[in-house]
Amino acid sequence: MRIGIIGGMSFESTLHYYEQINRQVNERAGGLTSADLVLRSVNFEEYHQLMEVGDWEEIAHRLSFEALDLVLKNRCDYVAIATNTMHKVADEVLGPHEVVNNVVWPSTSTWIDVPLVHIGDCIADECKKVGAKRVLLLGTKFTMTEDFMKALLGTHDIEVMDTSNYPEEIDEINRIIFEELCHGIVTSESKEFMMNFVYQFPADSDLRPDAIVLGCTELNMILEPDDVDIPLIDSTQAHIDKLVELCLS
Ligand code: GLU
Repeated sequence: MRIGIIGGMSFESTLHYYEQINRQVNERAGGLTSADLVLRSVNFEEYHQLMEVGDWEEIAHRLSFEALDLVLKNRCDYVAIATNTMHKVADEVLGPHEVVNNVVWPSTSTWIDVPLVHIGDCIADECKKVGAKRVLLLGTKFTMTEDFMKALLGTHDIEVMDTSNYPEEIDEINRIIFEELCHGIVTSESKEFMMNFVYQFPADSDLRPDAIVLGCTELNMILEPDDVDIPLIDSTQAHIDKLVELCLS
């Protein structure tokens, strides 16, 4: 199968996708096998500016066209958006889309759905593997405060803990993601901050989550499984594992 990846958001995590998908596919299939994939790496600065002014309609429009190009022009069997936050517009990207003849397609008009591999479904699969029903979701301010990822996980009977009492911490996590991790910078101060945030939910109380979800594709640069004493679910790895399965199917 051929997979199409919309990446570049940030390129730091997209590098990880590209490398890990190929390594895992090669380890499993042997020889000179590499992943049959198409990478569309966008200019994240343009998208970030749209995010900051809240123009999600334009983001949805652009990502839909990128996804359709991957399916129609590049003949991808599946499409993945290599970021959690952009799944805010996943329903619009999924379609259905009316495709008219200015897009490469053999008929004048038809309706198609994009075969999107939703990162939230991959997170949910990992939660089920470790029996996690209630999770602490870390990510950008969009992922942590808005409903799109919580609602998706809810469809899998996974509850996301309420973090609305921590607006300053959410802002700081968002700053760490965009000002440091997306530039490949990991500082000991930021790591300590992340650890302190996670450990605010004590092990022996009702506030304890069953697992921590790294719901941002750069967070695995700063938090690792050994840093915490409960399961750590990395959305990037969960997404990559699913894409590897699809590549090999
Ligand atoms: N890669 C990050 C995520 O997984 C943040 C960048 C973005 O806003 O897309 O959410």
